Amino acid sequence: MRKLLSCREIGCECDYIVTGDTEEEVFVYTVEHNMEKHGKTLEDVMDIRENIKGFIYSICS
Ligand SMILES: [Zn+2]
Repeated sequence: MRKLLSCREIGCECDYIVTGDTEEEVFVYTVEHNMEKHGKTLEDVMDIRENIKGFIYSICS
């Protein structure tokens, strides 16, 4: 099972899809992407941590 998150789901005008093998991995990549591409701080991302986790879904690979 792959884990997947669309950046758009967490409120960005962005079609970036984050994928990983675990929820933790997707979470870490999401944090990195948001800091790099959306100019967010670690604190901003931590504030919406629960939202991010809520939008991570699983796909069969
Ligand atoms: Zn994005």
